[in-house]
Amino acid sequence: MPSPTTDRVVRCRYKRRNDEMCTAAAVEPDGDVLLCTKHLARAITLIRVATARSAK
Ligand SMILES: [Zn+2]
Repeated sequence: MPSPTTDRVVRCRYKRRNDEMCTAAAVEPDGDVLLCTKHLARAITLIRVATARSAK
């Protein structure tokens, strides 16, 4: 397994229900949220749903 310093491409940390990891590149490789555009959008959608639910 390559070390993080030599492997430039940081992958999305999303894990599917079938235990498959997402292989897309993370939006912000140096950030603390390592998700691709698709799963970042998914996370935002979930936050909106959860916020709307708790506001009731
Ligand atoms: Zn992803």
